[in-house]
Order: sequence, then C-alpha cells, then structure tokens
Amino acid sequence: MSEAASRLCRACGLCCDGSLFPNVQLQPADSAQALKALGLRVQHKKKYDFFDQPCSAFKNKCCSIYQERPVRCRAFECQQLKRLAQGETREEDALKKIEEAQSMIDVIKKLFYRLGPTNPRKPLLQQYQQIIADPINPALDKKVVEERMQLDEALSNLNEFLNQEFRCA
Ligand code: SF4
Ligand code: SF4
Repeated sequence: MSEAASRLCRACGLCCDGSLFPNVQLQPADSAQALKALGLRVQHKKKYDFFDQPCSAFKNKCCSIYQERPVRCRAFECQQLKRLAQGETREEDALKKIEEAQSMIDVIKKLFYRLGPTNPRKPLLQQYQQIIADPINPALDKKVVEERMQLDEALSNLNEFLNQEFRCA
C-alpha cells in the first residue's frame, strides 16, 4: 500500500467500522481459532465463519491485528484507493470523499440518538432496523414520524454515496 493510501485509510475506517459492511466472512486460508485468539468475535452460522462489524480489532482508527488480518481484509481495496492507484483521483480529493461520508454518517448517528436507543456495537444498518422495528402511532408521534423520514432519506443518500464512491461493483 502506498503512503498516500495508508494516510487515507488512517483517516477513514469505513470498511472496518460497520459503515460499508455489516460483517466479514472468513475464507479457507483464515484460521478462525487464531483470529479468535487475537480478539475477533468470530461466529459460525450455516457453514460460514464470519465476524460482525464494527470490528473488535478496529482501534484508534487502525487495524490492531494488521499483520494477521483476514484474507478478505487484505484483498479489499475501496474505489477511492483504486482510483488513487490508477491516478484517477488525488489524495486530497479522496480525503474529501471520506469526510463527506463521515459527515453523512454523523447526521445519521444524531438521528439514531434522538430516535434510539440503538446499540453502537452493531453495524449502521442494524441500528436503523432496530429503530424502525419499534412501532409508533403516526397520529400521536408526528415528530418521530418526521425524524424517521429524515433518517430514511439520510440512510438512502449515504448508501447511494457509498456505492458510488467506496463499494466495489
Ligand atoms: S474504505 Fe477505503 S480508504 Fe477507507 S479504510 Fe477502507 S480501504 Fe481505506
Ligand atoms: S480485521 Fe482489521 S482490517 Fe479487518 S475489519 Fe477488522 S480492523 Fe478492519
């Protein structure tokens, strides 16, 4: 990884903090036991080993098990890093995209705070699902209805932005 890419990742963390992905599936070359021993909360369901995000190894905006990280984490390169490597974007422009995503996430977290409680150890999407699972009476809770609509819109805008700028097709 280039130094510029490394600086971007240290300013970002979207692929580790539950913003881009709800979980990471382990691959045959990964050792679930070794990763558990390193502190990853590895689970097993329907023949798959995986761990939920936000990742328990993501500390101070860095991967605390970088040298031993799972195969998928090694292989993943978001669109910003790919564009940077191919000379299609500059570091400062990629940083602006990261900041844009983070400010969209901040808006969503503020709405979670007002509409919650939610569990911050869960991915963004699960926190949203937790909120909308709570029944409301639209006739009585007009403010809540309005804030839920704001949340729907904010989440949909974020997802569109992440698909365009970070997730890989
Ligand atoms: S989303 Fe991209 S820039 Fe952000 S931490 Fe992951 S690989 Fe790095
Ligand atoms: S193991 Fe490291 S790279 Fe992989 S999701 Fe966790 S913090 Fe990110």
